[in-house]
Amino acid sequence: MEPVEQQIRSDSNATETSSEQSEASAPASPVRTERRQKPRAWETPPAPVPPPRLDDYKSIVGEADIDELKFLARDLKGKKVKMVNSTAVGGGVAEMLNQMVPLLRELDVETHWDVITGGNDFFEVTKAFHNALQGSDYKLTQHARDIFLMHNDQNRNRIDFSEDFIVIHDPQPAALIRAQKESNQHWIWRCHIDLSSPNPEVWAFLRPFVEKYDAAIFSSQSFARQLPIPQYLFYPCIDPLSEKNKELEDSFVQHVCDEFGVDRSRPIVTQVSRFDRAKDPVGVVQAFKQARKYVDCQLVLAGGGASDDPEGAAVLKEVKDAVGADPDIIILDLPPWCALEINALQRASTIIVQKSIREGFGLTVTEALWKGKPTIAGAVGGIPNQIIHKLTGALVHSVDGCAYQIRYLLTHPAFAQQLGHNGHEHVKENFLMSTNVRRWLLLLRILLAGGAK
Ligand code: UDP
Repeated sequence: MEPVEQQIRSDSNATETSSEQSEASAPASPVRTERRQKPRAWETPPAPVPPPRLDDYKSIVGEADIDELKFLARDLKGKKVKMVNSTAVGGGVAEMLNQMVPLLRELDVETHWDVITGGNDFFEVTKAFHNALQGSDYKLTQHARDIFLMHNDQNRNRIDFSEDFIVIHDPQPAALIRAQKESNQHWIWRCHIDLSSPNPEVWAFLRPFVEKYDAAIFSSQSFARQLPIPQYLFYPCIDPLSEKNKELEDSFVQHVCDEFGVDRSRPIVTQVSRFDRAKDPVGVVQAFKQARKYVDCQLVLAGGGASDDPEGAAVLKEVKDAVGADPDIIILDLPPWCALEINALQRASTIIVQKSIREGFGLTVTEALWKGKPTIAGAVGGIPNQIIHKLTGALVHSVDGCAYQIRYLLTHPAFAQQLGHNGHEHVKENFLMSTNVRRWLLLLRILLAGGAK
């Protein structure tokens, strides 16, 4: 299966979408004339857009960076790479592969992408493994081991592994390493999850597979484990040209604010997050209410997933209870295809908050920093990789701390602006798709030169 080709998309693109929408936009409304949670125009998903080409990034990172990629790829021409993961759509890994595989191919690094198959039984087991490896309680049974190995074996027999580099993403297909044969092949395990405190039984089961790889890659120092194989740090990345992150016409930003009843003449504090307790939306409401005693502002809580996730619905209810009848707090339960609207809300914001108490890497923080927004975020997971306190944003550990920072940044706009500027530069340097491609090229070259054997 070749998901990339299957997903090359129709001609319609976001520029059309946004210009249509902005043409249709009414002049800025004053304060919340009508507030709709799911504006009619966005009830159905827009047509997907094709992934960008290498040269499209020149205007963002500069020609020299793109030339560097071409230079690094020279010695890899004709080498074959296979990426394997567990889903073609949905989730950050598939999204990243969808962008990265065509870029590697454009650089003449022949890259193929295979997705493992499995029944419900397999995906139930791997979901439980995924959660257990990130700390949830789980009792590993022999049945679960058998299901895991059986489906890995079926995929091992189905997929061809003749490439020079085989990259296995995440734990679901980790046992495919048993297909390793030729000594001049390089097998890499790219772990996207936080393995810092795994369920000991599940880790003991997976560890022998992981140790057979030639190298492992983690997304943050804090997610890694001691392993006898070389480990590399690859931060996750965002695509500056995606619907979520590309530049938008101000008229479109205004249109989205009008639709959602957000008043751009007053400061806007925003958190974009699934309605999940780990994101502490209730804590955000409390911090906002404290700060607003001293400084005028509105809060936008934009999230999704509450309609198809019972826990999300429960958290949304807790948030609504905490909000009460406060007219300055706008809760938006958005469908999953609202990338342009989220982009617009982030761009309209004065401050962005991500007050997580548990977090993966925290891509919403990356997105906020990229948009040059002063960002306040919980000091958990990968967030401290992105926010250097008082330099690229503000790290907080409590509701009081968050309230203090909202108040401080809203009353010190020059400092807030400097944080936003630094945050943007930090993302440009470390967390963009083009940097990710550079890391891959460098790693493949290191392995080719015998660095990891
Ligand atoms: N996101 C979204 N719609 C929502 C909430 C979040 O599209 O209603 C996006 C958000 O912009 C980001 C991603 O989902 O790109 C969330 O990634 P993050 O690493 O911050 O958190 P996760 O949800 O993976 O724990």
